[in-house]
Amino acid sequence: MSKKELKFNSKVIHGGQQPDEAYGAVMMPIYQTSTYAQPTPGGHKGYEYSRGSNPTRTALEKSVASLENGNFGMAFGSGMAAIDAVMKLLRPGDEVICTSDLYGGSYRLFKQVFEKYGIKFLFSDMVDMEKLASQVTENTKLVWVETPTNPMMNIIDIRAVAKITKQHKIILGVDNTFATPYLQRPLELGADLVMHSATKYLGGHSDVVAGALVVKDENLAEQLYFIQKASGGICGPMDSFLTLRGIKTLHVRMQRHCENGETIAKYLKNHPKIDIVYWPGFEHHPNHDIAKKQMDGFGGMISFVPKGGNYEQAIKIVEQLKIFTLAESLGGIESLVGHPASMSHGSIPKNEREKNGVVDALIRLSVGIEDVEDLITDLEQALK
Ligand SMILES: *Cc1c(COP(=O)(O)O)cnc(C)c1O
Repeated sequence: MSKKELKFNSKVIHGGQQPDEAYGAVMMPIYQTSTYAQPTPGGHKGYEYSRGSNPTRTALEKSVASLENGNFGMAFGSGMAAIDAVMKLLRPGDEVICTSDLYGGSYRLFKQVFEKYGIKFLFSDMVDMEKLASQVTENTKLVWVETPTNPMMNIIDIRAVAKITKQHKIILGVDNTFATPYLQRPLELGADLVMHSATKYLGGHSDVVAGALVVKDENLAEQLYFIQKASGGICGPMDSFLTLRGIKTLHVRMQRHCENGETIAKYLKNHPKIDIVYWPGFEHHPNHDIAKKQMDGFGGMISFVPKGGNYEQAIKIVEQLKIFTLAESLGGIESLVGHPASMSHGSIPKNEREKNGVVDALIRLSVGIEDVEDLITDLEQALK
């Protein structure tokens, strides 16, 4: 049986992996080296210099490619370095259409770095596909989708977007950080490229910053490998090891994130002091049907707005929580809470973010894998 045919939970552990050739180490060692001895010039064993490739990074790249059902993986020093590499596929005059409710760091990279190089970014809620199609011009080279979106938990129909991008030969990239391949595999839904902030669920333990790309097409892979090597935003050997180690428990962690997420979403929805809860598992969520179709579960990311809430009240609640740690980031084993307006989305102008629902009172939870009763007790005392 080839490792390509394994089911998901087995691929998490074995996908693209084999005992190390040198001594049979079952876990890929940390090849903490910049260079490799050559018996004769050019006579290397596949590795020349670690910016180009490194065995520990290769193991991670193969693992992520296997989980996303792609053919080629690339690991980067951060999620942003991965997106940066994708943008370098473009030229001045090219246009990108992106999800309007975008991760703050992506918005900043697009508007403040790549716009300077003559690349144009258009935004779309990607709900109405005719409207999306009407934004396409002959210069559109990339459509960049985030789903579920951060922090509003909107769901975008990847299959429907892929129909448009395929028709116009546009690259469709999906930031799959929130869902992870455990819940959603965009390449199977028609995307050309998947991106991860492996800092979040893939690494899963809040101890590493890393990023990844996965593609199916060889030509696209070659361009991206070239950019990775030329620009050098690579994932180091130690970070590759940590990320790979984290991935090996992705399926068991995600199962618990989903269970705890559902319990907390329902608790908040029934709480008298809460106005709105954003979680795609609710039947009344506007994109629930799409979520059910393209995802295998609804995850542990939840956003909510307290009744009559304002900036000060939201700050008070997040400061009052004890088990939920107030911090940037998400997707780790421990529960985190964030205040998007002042933290992750602080770099987006207020009128822009409020258009997308990121109001001052919005609070975002990354529900961890602790005992859910303890998490509810914590929320209960903070909401008092
Ligand atoms: C965190 C995050 C990123 C950026 O990744 P880094 O690893 O922090 O560079 C991109 N997209 C989403 C959805 C994220 O949550």
